[in-house]
Parts: sequence; structure tokens; C-alpha cells
Amino acid sequence: MKPRILKIDPQNIDHDLLKQGVETIHNRGLVAFPTETVYGLGANALDARAAAGIFEAKKRPLDDPLIVHISEKEDLYRLAKNISPLAEKLMSRFWPGPLTIILEKTDLVPDIVTTGLGTVAVRMPSGSIAKKFISLAGVPIAAPSANLFGRPSPTSAKHVVNDLTGRIDIVFDGGKTKIGVESTVVEFDQDKTIVLRPGGISVEELRSIVGEVKVLDEKAELVSSPGKYPEHYSPEAKVVVISRDSRQVEKALLTLWEMKSYGLRVGVMAKQEHMEKYKNFDAQVLGPGSDGRTCATRLFHILREFDEKNVDVIVAEAIKEDGLGLAVMNRLRKASGTVS
Ligand code: AMP
Ligand code: MG
Repeated sequence: MKPRILKIDPQNIDHDLLKQGVETIHNRGLVAFPTETVYGLGANALDARAAAGIFEAKKRPLDDPLIVHISEKEDLYRLAKNISPLAEKLMSRFWPGPLTIILEKTDLVPDIVTTGLGTVAVRMPSGSIAKKFISLAGVPIAAPSANLFGRPSPTSAKHVVNDLTGRIDIVFDGGKTKIGVESTVVEFDQDKTIVLRPGGISVEELRSIVGEVKVLDEKAELVSSPGKYPEHYSPEAKVVVISRDSRQVEKALLTLWEMKSYGLRVGVMAKQEHMEKYKNFDAQVLGPGSDGRTCATRLFHILREFDEKNVDVIVAEAIKEDGLGLAVMNRLRKASGTVS
């Protein structure tokens, strides 16, 4: 059965519509909703059976922990304990917003949510629909991205419906999400902040607040970060990433012609400044190569669009890895399966 799709204007939120979702949450159902990063698939985080539904709907492995979303700071102290001054500092600067913090969990959090870990991932989103929905629900909401496991994260309600029809109850359609990549996930090692997953808050922003920040390289990410799999965020098509050097366009064109000569359908995800070089191909513009923020808003959308066109190979130009460019490249490498 198709989920109920309820259109909500993020600037003028209809509370009665949100209340339908709240009722579903209280009945152990699943509600997809937009946050500022991507669409989340929400269930009551304090109810193990409700949270189990998320893993089933997404076909998510049971060793991949969920992020718990809250709307008020007080809720944090019910979910987590021994919170360090460093964590407090980051929360006071970046919450509400796209920063997820790993903290020691309390007994209130069911084991299934954290997949048995002693820690819980918590975030307070800033998206207006997410904020209001969580607050009306009156319980913390466990919400991973609202896609089938391994697929590109959803940045529109259509992406959610394409992946999860028949598997969830409600989708709130609040239009395209603003940031387009998931939250930054951090943990702490004494006075050091460690980025487990780059995302919507850049490493530069974190450094400006806390000084020392270590970013796990992607191989280490697979080892140290629970629920990380080498291939992730993947479209059906094979993704080939072309590194950022003086021969980038030349190498991309060679790859495109070669793949085409094998009879494969090809598409290219290109930097704005190179678009005119790809006139002979189906080219989608990711954004200016040094503007990670713009590229982030388009990345998952383009990967999914190519799938709809049944493209076999997506040739993707690497962009500059600062700001949100780091998160974009992290997702691209995982989509291509080159981290292992
Ligand atoms: P998402 O699918 O966007 O909700 O991402 C959730 C990710 O957050 C997981 O795949 C983990 O990598 C990370 N995460 C969640 N809980 C924890 C935790 N307790 N410790 C470390 N990482 C976590
Ligand atoms: Mg996800």
C-alpha cells in the first residue's frame, strides 16, 4: 500500500497534518519527514518494537545504529549521561543543526536503537517541520535516512516514496531538503573531537569552535564506525570518480567514450565550469567545483535521476574537499565502492 503523502509548507506548518503523524508514532508506526539534511524515517526512539520497524522497512542491518532526534535540550539528559564540557560547547554552537554527537547512553534508550552499544547518537535538527514534529510527538524520534539501505539518501518526498512504498505509513512532503547530505557525526577521545562521518557541519566550522579535530580517513571509518559498509549511498549504476587534477576533463572523456564503445549507457556528473566539455553526453551539473555546499544539495538527486534513466555508468568529477566538499566526496567514493 502507498503511504499517506501529506504536503506541508515548511514556512507555514499545518499542525493538524503533523498530528496525524504523531498518532502514527504513538501507534508504533513509521513516519518519513524532511530535516534540513535529508528525509528521515522516524519511529518512537523509546519503544524497541517501534524502532525495530525502521530496520525492517529499510532492510537495514541490525548492527547499524540509529540517530535519535530531539527538539529540546532537556531531552538530551534523559538519553545520555556524563556529557563533557566539549560536547556541551559543540551543542551550544551547532544545535539545532546538522551535527550528531555520540554520548554515553542511559537505560532509557532501547538496545536495538544503539545496536547494543553503550553509546547513543543524538541530534537536534533545525528543519522547521522536523522540529515541530518531534516536539508535538513528545518523544525522541529515532530516524535514519528514509531510503532503502545502501541507496542514495532521499532529498525529496518522491525519493522516499520510490524506495519505501508499502513499507511505511506516512510521508510528510516538505519539498527539497536544504543541505542535501547527512549530519556530521562526532565522538570524543578525552579533549579530542573525532569526526566519524563528515556531513552538514564542516570540519573547518568544528575547528573554529574546539581547535583540535581529527577526521577519520575513510578506511578507518569502516573499522571504527559501527554500521559502516564499503559500498553505500549507491545508485544502481556503477559510479566512476575522476580525480581532480589538470587532466580531469580529458580522463573523464576517455572513460565516457570507452564505456560507450562497450555499448553501455553513460552519464556524467560534472562541475559547472566543465559542463560545455561534455556536450556529447548526458551531463548533469553538480555545482561549481569549489562550492561544496551547492554540490551537496544536488548530489543524491543526480544519482537517483541517472538511475531513473537506466544509466549503466555515472562518470563523476571529483570536487574540492573543503567545506561540505569533504562530505560530498566521502559519499561519492562510497557510492563508487572504492573505499575498502
Ligand atoms: P543515518 O543512516 O544517517 O541515520 O546514520 C547513522 C550513522 O550514525 C550510523 O551508520 C553510524 O555510523 C553512526 N552512529 C549512530 N550511532 C552511533 C554510535 N552509538 N556510535 C558511533 N556511531 C554511531
Ligand atoms: Mg543512512
